[in-house]
Amino acid sequence: MHSTEWSDEAFCRIIEDFPVLNREVNGKRLVYLDNAASTLKSSTVISKMTDFYLNHYSNIHRAVHTLASEATSEYEAARDKVARFINAQSEEVIFTSGTTMGINALVNSLVRSDILQKGDTVLISQVEHHANLVPWLRLSKFFGFKVEYIEADVTGTITPDSILAAKSRVNSPKVVSITGQSNVTGQTMPIDVIRETFKDAILIIDGAQLIPHKKIDVKALDIDFLVFSGHKMIAPTGIGALYGKRALLEKLEPFLYGGEMIDKVTFEDVTFNVLPYKFEAGTQDIGGAVALGYTIDYLENFGLGNIQKHVEELSKYLLEELSKIDFVEIYGPRDETHQSLVSFNVDGVHPHDVSQVLDEDFGIATRSGHHCAQPLMSVLARGSHIDFPNSTVRASVYFYNRKEDIDILVEGLKYIKRWFG
Ligand SMILES: *Cc1c(COP(=O)(O)O)cnc(C)c1O
Repeated sequence: MHSTEWSDEAFCRIIEDFPVLNREVNGKRLVYLDNAASTLKSSTVISKMTDFYLNHYSNIHRAVHTLASEATSEYEAARDKVARFINAQSEEVIFTSGTTMGINALVNSLVRSDILQKGDTVLISQVEHHANLVPWLRLSKFFGFKVEYIEADVTGTITPDSILAAKSRVNSPKVVSITGQSNVTGQTMPIDVIRETFKDAILIIDGAQLIPHKKIDVKALDIDFLVFSGHKMIAPTGIGALYGKRALLEKLEPFLYGGEMIDKVTFEDVTFNVLPYKFEAGTQDIGGAVALGYTIDYLENFGLGNIQKHVEELSKYLLEELSKIDFVEIYGPRDETHQSLVSFNVDGVHPHDVSQVLDEDFGIATRSGHHCAQPLMSVLARGSHIDFPNSTVRASVYFYNRKEDIDILVEGLKYIKRWFG
């Protein structure tokens, strides 16, 4: 449909829908390149959510009045949309507060269900976000399972060789939990290769970075569990989803106990509600879930294929343009697996200073720091040719970004090197 740029008509729709793109920051047009931390919000989604809250809102389930039944059908319709979006069944989709909550729930449920036991191995990778590292590490101390890593090379890249090396070292891990895309190196992972290599493992995918711009089919990829967050795909904060294969969810002990998730309760014991309610204790973020449904409508309406293609082309341009700058050190793979974001450093200037000048003098929002992946920083330090500051600058794009945003970033980096390098 387009090459790197939207048609004027499509872009007008985008600008109208993301009013903040018309904002000035420090006297400059806002250039928002912090999408990997959280995306902008759409007025279409927000106004539909507002209408829901103002005109159809009530607590859901177990009530017979009209508002409750309207709210319940919107909530369940949102679940159906999430299910369709990833090719799952509705009862396999559980609303969570986001990726972090989803992984914590899973780790806890797996140990409580005796599926993950003392002596078992959980295989993760060296590029995981803390959300897919700290819960495993901490609970391994209480429950006696082991945590092993698929190692990254010094650019922070997971290679086919490192996957095979992990296979020969660990042999048969009980769980393989891996990010679909690194939020630091931008690498999209070969989920099919990992599935093929660890046939008998429970495969968990952290979809936080991948789901917003790439269509994922949990059935085709034979994923056992998938977690993601709404706020990285234009939905509000505080809502996300956990997908699990029905047979596994049936076997899992819930992580949260309380109302809604029960069937019968006596003073002595409880039986659980059916899927997916067994995993949705307490009052959920009803408005958030409904808004996640509207978000999916929006993205599908826009065309997921169009979004994916746009992000791919823009990612390529971002990587190419930054690669041309000799004082910029880039991390992660140098091929088409590198998507939607680039982490880099300007030789001689601290990433926080880079981000600050980009904001103050160019109106560009980027993120600097360790990006919730502290252990990975020590890997990147080993491959670095500069005085590595243990953090990076990260520029990340989404469908409302354009080539021009990247040109302004490049201009900003050259200015920074000239005056501060
Ligand atoms: C953002 C992110 C998370 C954490 O998501 P939350 O919404 O903060 O829970 C986990 N993994 C990756 C890869 C991320 O990018």
